[in-house]
Amino acid sequence: MTHPASTSTPSIAALAVAIGLTIGVGSPAARADEAASADSSLEATLSSLRQAGLDDEVAYDLVRSLTVEVGSRFAGSAGDRRAVAWATQKMEELGLENVRTEPVVVPRWIRGEAEAEILTPHPQKLILTALGGSIGTSEAGISAPILHVPSLDALEAIADEEVRGKIVFFDQSMSRQRDGSGYGQTVGIRSRGPSRAAAKGAIAVLIRSVGTGTHRFPHTGGTRYAEEVAKIPAAALAVPDADLLAAQFDYGKPVQVRLRLTSRDAGEAMSANVIGEVIGRERPDEIVLLAAHLDSWDLGTGAIDDGAGCATMMRVAQMLRELPQAPRRTVRVVLFANEEFGLSGARAYAEAHADDIEKHVIGIESDFGAGRIWRFRTAIDPSALSQTEVLRTALEPLDVEWGGNEARGGADLSPLRRASMPVADLSQDGTLYFDYHHTDDDTLDKIEPAALSQNVASYALFAYWAAETEADFGRVTPPAR
Ligand SMILES: [Zn+2]
Repeated sequence: MTHPASTSTPSIAALAVAIGLTIGVGSPAARADEAASADSSLEATLSSLRQAGLDDEVAYDLVRSLTVEVGSRFAGSAGDRRAVAWATQKMEELGLENVRTEPVVVPRWIRGEAEAEILTPHPQKLILTALGGSIGTSEAGISAPILHVPSLDALEAIADEEVRGKIVFFDQSMSRQRDGSGYGQTVGIRSRGPSRAAAKGAIAVLIRSVGTGTHRFPHTGGTRYAEEVAKIPAAALAVPDADLLAAQFDYGKPVQVRLRLTSRDAGEAMSANVIGEVIGRERPDEIVLLAAHLDSWDLGTGAIDDGAGCATMMRVAQMLRELPQAPRRTVRVVLFANEEFGLSGARAYAEAHADDIEKHVIGIESDFGAGRIWRFRTAIDPSALSQTEVLRTALEPLDVEWGGNEARGGADLSPLRRASMPVADLSQDGTLYFDYHHTDDDTLDKIEPAALSQNVASYALFAYWAAETEADFGRVTPPAR
């Protein structure tokens, strides 16, 4: 469609402001009227976007299309390439502007097969999956005694000779929280556990899945081998299987397990960040960044992680594109490549845009499923906080509360955040998110359409406000890590 903004006639006052001639335009009262009418038109647009978001069915159709027509899309896989083509075509169909891809080199890793069984005291099969990046075992597998430890700290307190030659089993439970904070408290066993155990002489690692599900779905996720330590195979047990393995210790006998993984690295592959825009009518070079990640783990169909985020951001941009006039600033949707296995797309984007990072006035990411949004936070210059009030008021009917100026931003925003880009968070209710996260069970049926629509409404309000407001969000020093 053509864009009406290019043909609309700006008001005299707006035109005067645009060309820097504010002197002599109307009386102070007229200028106050102009400001009041700008406020009421902002409020009216927010109100209509909120209703359109709540009525929306397009985002659900998009995530259904992605999960049905593409499915899993792990970095560098055939599904990843199909996803890039899918997103490019959909953005074109939605009428976004400047639709393009930017190349990203991604590491390629093959999961292979995972098998494990308890050998003693009570032989049983275990359900598990490799941690992302794990090396494989030998073809025959590894048979070894299990060292049962409740945490990384507990392992550090054990003498190396007790660890040497064993399979370390990190048995730490994740708590269920609306804000997902249980994840950060537990994920260290997955990301750092294997190298911590290897440094003390362990030959493999099993972890209790970092998740809250009670079904027999193991939760994968990336592990990070430390440079100076031997790489050892590492896998996650489904939660009931972690319970089963832990219960073997009740008998006072040695617990032995056989583990076989055929995971392997497979070099590098090409992927891409997929980008589409709504070009700003007054400040096209200023960018409001809407982020999600296009890749998924290889297990499920990536509905909640992060098909929902992709669909939300694409639909929100389309809603802004269809307004009678575009907002002042450019709204740019970036669907990042390979968030899950090393943030390749986020790093490539920050490098490719190093010269105009300061033009990214604020960023937000949806990467926490499709639960209802319950909180809005920012990390902007405090002088701009009063300007958030119109948005906070607009979010109230959606039951979104204000959470202060300590937003963290999503993982894909972290390189831009290090370059001082302001960020905001619209926090989804994560109570159920970690039942499905990084499992075979991350599928479309886990998305509640009404909750997804509430997401669309919330992000649409944020995106329009951030692109339309005159507020200067400044540059924000990221928190020390
Ligand atoms: Zn994600």
